[in-house]
Amino acid sequence: MKCKVCKDKAEIYLRSHNIALCRKDFIKFYERRVMRSIEKLKMFTRGDKILVAISGGKDSLGLLHLLQKLEYDVTGYYINLGIDGYSDVSQNKVKAFSHSRGILIIIEDIRVAWDSGIGELAKRVRRPPCSLCGMVKRYLMNRAAVKFDVMATGHNQDDETATLLGNLLRWDEGYLARQSPVLKQKGSLKKRVKPLSFITERESAAYALMEGIDYIMEECPLAKRATSLFYKGILNQLEERMPGAKSRFFNGFLEYQKSHPLVEEEEPLVACVRCGYLTTSEVCNFCRLEEKIKH
Ligand code: SF4
Ligand code: ZN
Repeated sequence: MKCKVCKDKAEIYLRSHNIALCRKDFIKFYERRVMRSIEKLKMFTRGDKILVAISGGKDSLGLLHLLQKLEYDVTGYYINLGIDGYSDVSQNKVKAFSHSRGILIIIEDIRVAWDSGIGELAKRVRRPPCSLCGMVKRYLMNRAAVKFDVMATGHNQDDETATLLGNLLRWDEGYLARQSPVLKQKGSLKKRVKPLSFITERESAAYALMEGIDYIMEECPLAKRATSLFYKGILNQLEERMPGAKSRFFNGFLEYQKSHPLVEEEEPLVACVRCGYLTTSEVCNFCRLEEKIKH
């Protein structure tokens, strides 16, 4: 198969766009699409200080690499979650990435404060690991983002589509109202953006490989029970039968949201009496967790 642009040998065929591209033209095509999302949705500009949340995986490292390449002011932020056989491997990948590219990466390790990893903590407080992990990551990221203008995450279109399916199945209007590639700043909670929202997981993996990024390929071992993986499987089956179904589903939702905005019933946010984090109750979930762990 030949590259549609230069007629050299193609390295990737993108079924939903019906084009085959060589390495050089795929990289250009990919970067142009990410840039278009950043500009069209006014995610950030070159004057902004951007904190990029990274896990050591293809999406987040690929995003950090791309933003540095396009001369944005970026800093990485990595949380070691203390997951056996996984977190230390991903942290080593992150460190090697940081050294090879000269990008500053802030590294946080939850075991320093709590002496155990997320799996152990989840057992102790009797919560599903992913729900606890999500809350802890959100808190720490928001806290780290205070000194920045915006926080970017590497969620791709497959992640967003799986989340959308889950939100629709539960008919969760609050989450549906908040599902967007751009979340505006709310008080001390900085603006959050997802520049890869329109990029598929396969494209993101291809970009990382073609750009020579050494990322962690294994899934988090605690993800096995995650419903999001189940939804991704169902959506992949749909895509197989109906190419382009995932992007039509996700883009259709975003378009519909523009003309029929769901209004989130917002509880007023107040500062946590312990740590000052914006929350809907007197003490935030993170401080309550800390208290539970101490006891
Ligand atoms: Fe955390 Fe669950 Fe993701 Fe593992 S799969 S990093 S536990 S949210
Ligand atoms: Zn608090």
